[in-house]
Amino acid sequence: MTKRAQGAPGKPSGRLGKAKGADAITRKLELRCEHCGKKLRQDQAVYLELSAKTNQWYPEGECPAEESQGSFPVGKTCAKTLLRETP
Ligand SMILES: [Zn+2]
Repeated sequence: MTKRAQGAPGKPSGRLGKAKGADAITRKLELRCEHCGKKLRQDQAVYLELSAKTNQWYPEGECPAEESQGSFPVGKTCAKTLLRETP
């Protein structure tokens, strides 16, 4: 339940359980914020990496590779919120 590392980004669990819709199909044509589930345009999306170990978000590329569950699109405002929550 806490780890979904399967190569491709999946649906994070834990505190993001309310987010929905970011599956393989929606990723093709539309993006959805992992945080609030809102639709995003490509140019509105910010990609953050989620650590499977700590459940914390990192700017893309800054999460230790062995912990990363992959990158997920979030809205710019949500990205700020998520990164602020990360100590
Ligand atoms: Zn959002």
